[in-house]
Amino acid sequence: MAKNFKDEVLSRRTFAIISHPDAGKTTLTEQLLLFGGAIRDAGTVKGKKTGKFATSDWMEIEKQRGISVTSSVMQFEYQNCRVNILDTPGHQDFSEDTYRTLTAVDSAVMIIDSAKGIEEQTLKLFKVCRMRGIPIFTFINKLDREGRAPLELLAELEEVMGIESYPMNWPIGMGKEFLGIYDRFYKRIEQFRVDEDKRYIELNEDGEIEGDHQLKTSGLYDQTLEEIMLLNEAGNEFSRERIEKGELTPVFFGSALTNFGVQTFLETYLQFAPSPQARNSSEGKIDPLNEEFSGFIFKIQANMNPAHRDRIAFLRICSGKFERGMTVNIPRIGKQLKLAQSTQFMADDRSTVDEAVSGDIIGLYDSGTYQIGDTLTIGKNKFQFERLPQFTPELFVRVTAKNVMKQKHFHKGIEQLVQEGAIQLFRNVRTEEYLLGAVGQLQFEVFEHRMKNEYNVEVIMERLGSKITRWVENEQVNENLSAARSILVKDRYGKLAFLFENDFALRWFQDKNPEVKLYNPMDDY
Ligand code: GDP
Repeated sequence: MAKNFKDEVLSRRTFAIISHPDAGKTTLTEQLLLFGGAIRDAGTVKGKKTGKFATSDWMEIEKQRGISVTSSVMQFEYQNCRVNILDTPGHQDFSEDTYRTLTAVDSAVMIIDSAKGIEEQTLKLFKVCRMRGIPIFTFINKLDREGRAPLELLAELEEVMGIESYPMNWPIGMGKEFLGIYDRFYKRIEQFRVDEDKRYIELNEDGEIEGDHQLKTSGLYDQTLEEIMLLNEAGNEFSRERIEKGELTPVFFGSALTNFGVQTFLETYLQFAPSPQARNSSEGKIDPLNEEFSGFIFKIQANMNPAHRDRIAFLRICSGKFERGMTVNIPRIGKQLKLAQSTQFMADDRSTVDEAVSGDIIGLYDSGTYQIGDTLTIGKNKFQFERLPQFTPELFVRVTAKNVMKQKHFHKGIEQLVQEGAIQLFRNVRTEEYLLGAVGQLQFEVFEHRMKNEYNVEVIMERLGSKITRWVENEQVNENLSAARSILVKDRYGKLAFLFENDFALRWFQDKNPEVKLYNPMDDY
């Protein structure tokens, strides 16, 4: 029987996986998709990077550098849940994209390589989740290899990340001597590399194996029991409420590559991961169970299909139900739009979506209407969801078209790439020159490449090096304050900002011009 709206919404689990490159995000994602029946063979997700999109030059950049630049969405059903996984680019030059993606999820899975512990990129992304109060589930990966002691890894979580942890299971040995996991939650032992019918050993009331078992002859078994005792006595208590608040992270050990511990992780995760959460808007919190449709665009991706030059806007549904053909408002531009073309995402396919509810992510074909951060509502609703985080760019170039006859394409290309959030655009207030700001160098390379391949414009980019960007609260500023070491610019929304040569220039300016109120939007993050 078809579920009603409320049950549909409550069955959604929308999350992103955060990790440092190489920790195993792709491998784990693939295993999850296999369980969900969304793909048939391991290797599909990786294959997608090189196979399906091989015709796209733009994807060549990814391929050559061996990094995943773009995010995508994958969807599957498992045990009555509809799971939406949002992939995020691993490379730090694209972390702005990842930050925006994290606004569209209700929880996050953090993968840690057991040999490396907490790495830089993981820590950064963790902080964003923390700040947003997103519940975090931790998967400590690669137990089939020699890694760091589990207690040490937990201590690192608490010390470096400042989050308390509750190990749902605990490894018995590791590397060559990895025997399995002691599952505190299901009260059983799951043995590594043992056939399914013999894999699980139920534990007795005292949390031990009843009677004789070969596992008991290993010293590792006794050591594990000791560590479990320590966790029971001195560790944190399990608390669903604290998990939901993002104060406590349930920790799972496993090995994505050998598909060990992944199913247990998935099943437990689905039990405790939150269903769609309310989102803040200009009219207060919007409840996902509210039946009036609303959502926001958190990502725009061009040329997913190089043959059609299409752009897809990714929409997170925050309330109500999406129905193909419905008419929505875009309060930012005061316009109405019919949503005729929409798509949902499967790992190896895209198919037309007719209906979707709060928590789902759908793709809308876009001919240039949407901007990142746009809210969509219906009827009389004109509220807007919270603005998405915008990074303070650190690197700048001055950009012009090589061929002056190509101005039209040049402007169109810049406008679209800026709308996508691929790069930030500024105009020098005095000279009207175009300046581009980025968080990482790779963004310029992608920009240059895409301008040439998608808009047929060769660009000249003059490096201006790193700058400190500070926006101005004042509506107006004396243009004469613009100087080589403090360039006055307007961002694409018309807001004034200064690009300072360095910290010294910034302080000097502030001393001389205390009436100019400067701010850094990233201070909120
Ligand atoms: P990503 O960059 O986070 O997406 O990482 P990948 O999933 O591409 O994995 C990086 C490398 O680690 C690949 O060579 C994987 O085969 C390997 N890897 C992933 N999970 C495991 C694991 O559980 N054990 C071992 N030994 N290797 C793994």
